[in-house]
Amino acid sequence: MAHRGTAGEPRGLSQAQYDSGTVTISAPFCAWCGEAIPRRSGPGRPARYCRRSHRQRAFEARREAERRGISPDEVLLSRFAWDRLRDALYRLEAAAQDVALDVGSGRPTKADYAEALGHLTGAVRELQEIAVEPTAMTD
Ligand SMILES: [Zn+2]
Repeated sequence: MAHRGTAGEPRGLSQAQYDSGTVTISAPFCAWCGEAIPRRSGPGRPARYCRRSHRQRAFEARREAERRGISPDEVLLSRFAWDRLRDALYRLEAAAQDVALDVGSGRPTKADYAEALGHLTGAVRELQEIAVEPTAMTD
């Protein structure tokens, strides 16, 4: 799953605009995958997608949502994507429970903490590697 980073400093604003606190800046993250969008200099509205293919997939997902009557608060996923996501979340939850048990009782050593952290980060990594792309959704 994509993770969002920090937005960083806004560019293209005068110091006065930045200091006034009246300018609202949306985070530059892709509306499709959630990855940070590299900032562009120059005129024009900010990009909503990190690449053309993601703009196209979002367009196709919106079209499919319209075709199927999917409401804005619904998302349609394939069975495969749903199963992978659910399984990865289950393994993450189980890893968190294991870690809580391993370091929450007795007198855990540094090695116990290191092992627990490795177990947990492995489950997180597995979750991060899953690309969940909806079949149909509105923005
Ligand atoms: Zn993207």
